[in-house]
Amino acid sequence: MEGPGERLDELRASLGRVEQRIARACEAAGRDRAEVTLIVVTKFWPASDVRLLAELGVRDVAENRDQEAAAKAAACAGLPLRWHFVGQLQTNKARSVLAYADYVHSVDRPKLVRALSAAAEQRAGGEVAALVQVALEKEEDGGAGDGGRGGAAPEDVSGLAEEIMRAPGLRFAGLMTVAPLEGAYAGRPAAAFERVAELSRSLRVAAPAATMVSAGMSADLEEAIAAGATHVRVGSAVLGVRPPLR
Ligand SMILES: *Cc1c(COP(=O)(O)O)cnc(C)c1O
Repeated sequence: MEGPGERLDELRASLGRVEQRIARACEAAGRDRAEVTLIVVTKFWPASDVRLLAELGVRDVAENRDQEAAAKAAACAGLPLRWHFVGQLQTNKARSVLAYADYVHSVDRPKLVRALSAAAEQRAGGEVAALVQVALEKEEDGGAGDGGRGGAAPEDVSGLAEEIMRAPGLRFAGLMTVAPLEGAYAGRPAAAFERVAELSRSLRVAAPAATMVSAGMSADLEEAIAAGATHVRVGSAVLGVRPPLR
C-alpha cells in the first residue's frame, strides 16, 4: 500500500511527463500551448485521486460511466473542476449526467439530443456544451455494421449538429473522436484526426463558435495535437495502466 503522499508524488511526475509531451507536440505543430486543454480521464480511479489531481492544478476531468461519475463528482463537490462526460450515454441517464457535467462529448443520435435538451432546460447549471462524437469506422456502412461502440457516422454529423443548435439548453461546442480500431482508419490515428479536423472546419462555416476538437488519448495525443485538437483526453498516462482492485 502506498500513502497519499506517494500517490501525490506519482501523479505529479506523470502529469509532468504528459505536460511535456503536450508542450513538445504544440511546439512541433507551431501551436501555442494555450490552444490545447488537458482533460484527465479518471474512470476506474477513486475520488481521492481526483482530489489530488485538483491539488496539482488539473481543472478538467472526464468520466465514461454515469454511476461511477455521479458518486465521484459528489465526493469531489466544492473542488474547482469541470466535469466532462465522454462515454456512451443512455437517454434515461441524461438528467443524472447533467447534474455534474457541463460538457457531453458523446452525442451520437437525435434521441439523445432531445433527452439532453430536456434535462438541460430543467437544471440550474445553465447551458450544456454538446459535442458530436464522430465514429469514422462507420463511414462505409452508414452505421449499419456498428459493433456497439458509440459515435455517429460522418455523414450524420452535420444533421446532428443542426439538431443541437436548435435544442434549448444545449450549445453545439464541436466534435469528439476516438481513433478507430476498425475500418479504413484503423492504425492511422493521424489520418483519422485530420479527417475530423476537416469535418470541424466545414461545420464552423455555419457554427463558428463550435471550436472544440476533442481528440487524442494517452497513445496518440501527439497526432491529435498535430491535426489541431483543442482538447486531449488522457487517462492511463496520468493515472496508471491498471485499475485498482475494488
Ligand atoms: C478511457 C478514455 C480515454 C482515455 O484513454 P487512455 O488511453 O487511458 O488515455 C479517452 N477517451 C475516452 C472516450 C475514454 O473512454
